[in-house]
Amino acid sequence: MKLNENYRSLSRSYLFSEVEKRVGAFREMHPNQELIRLGIGDVTLPLAAPIVAALHDAVEEMKEKQTFRGYAPEHGYPFLRAAVRSHLEGYGAVLQEDEIFISSGAKDDLAGILSLFGAGNTVLIQDPVYPVYADTNILAGNRIVWMRAEPENDFLPMPPKDGGADLIYLCSPNNPTGRAYSRAQLEQWVQYAAACDAVLIFDAAYEAFIGQHGIPHSIYEIPGAQTCAIEIASFSKTAGFTGLRCGYTVVPRGLCRCGQNLNAMWERRKAVSTNGVAYVIQRAAQAVYTPPGWKAVQDAVSYYKKNAAVIASALQSAGIPCCGGVNSPYIWMKCPNGMTSWQFFDHLLQTAGVVGTPGSGFGSAGEGCFRLTGFGDAEKTRQAAVRLVQAAAL
Ligand code: PLP
Repeated sequence: MKLNENYRSLSRSYLFSEVEKRVGAFREMHPNQELIRLGIGDVTLPLAAPIVAALHDAVEEMKEKQTFRGYAPEHGYPFLRAAVRSHLEGYGAVLQEDEIFISSGAKDDLAGILSLFGAGNTVLIQDPVYPVYADTNILAGNRIVWMRAEPENDFLPMPPKDGGADLIYLCSPNNPTGRAYSRAQLEQWVQYAAACDAVLIFDAAYEAFIGQHGIPHSIYEIPGAQTCAIEIASFSKTAGFTGLRCGYTVVPRGLCRCGQNLNAMWERRKAVSTNGVAYVIQRAAQAVYTPPGWKAVQDAVSYYKKNAAVIASALQSAGIPCCGGVNSPYIWMKCPNGMTSWQFFDHLLQTAGVVGTPGSGFGSAGEGCFRLTGFGDAEKTRQAAVRLVQAAAL
């Protein structure tokens, strides 16, 4: 027997378990002190009423013989593929329904998409970034070339001078820096990918948080992307589906490499690896794009972004460099007084009872930085912002 030896190359994923370990130790020492968590990467608001109503209606259908549904189509129900298509068209990204594949979430397809490619590819990945890109590529036996996101490039790395990339991951708006690429920047990336025959994997998990004009929500707003890009998106952060699980992946029919059509390959991959996403969940996702559904999810996004703005303005008034929040729920701050990410984590926990996420956990370029999120409660976020600034001054 042969095992996938690449598992040996994974570094121990200790970021969130180490955070919990240190928080647990603090709680034991200080059982009466209230902790405020600004490290949350999950949504906290409940599902919006139009989504819950759609879930209920779909459950009712499952009760009746005439409307009961069994296996879902592996590529998604036509009603949801059509709803995603028209959502993207609203941004100027014109696609066909058979280019849109409904998934159980972005993470599932970020792992699955690598089944289209052989081992040994050269992959460009932003640093810091959502750790799943690196781990899935290590498991696939690929060679990672890191692109540092730092103040010098405004946390938005641009194409390198040399070619040679096979796959390129862009996460925009980015987790953890909160920064998002402009249209002109994405045009450069699409041109670069086309010139070196690479495939761009565009993670649009946070597209609903984009608040500025000139920031594309979809890579297919960029001319030429349909022949060089795959988009992976999710209802998780857009509409609170982290527990329900639903997303979509776009593989255009014009995307061909090495004489093969990637849309046809992905269609086949889905057919052999899934029996689809539950009917009731897809009906709930469809409700996101109805006028009341979209208004409700936008209200939740605004709530999270207001929290992020509270944190950002507290940091800015204390003169602490930070970015993000405008098109994202994430604030990326520089640790004060030259502290490392974990030193600041401990300092903030011990002196302020506030929990954040050490930037070094998202890549080596994140050392000396810290991630805070707007996913918490508004009042608690206000209290935490005050405590954060006080702790930074100590
Ligand atoms: N992509 C990014 C950048 C994320 O931050 C996350 C979750 O935090 C995901 C994808 C995963 O999304 P999903 O819940 O759809 O699997």
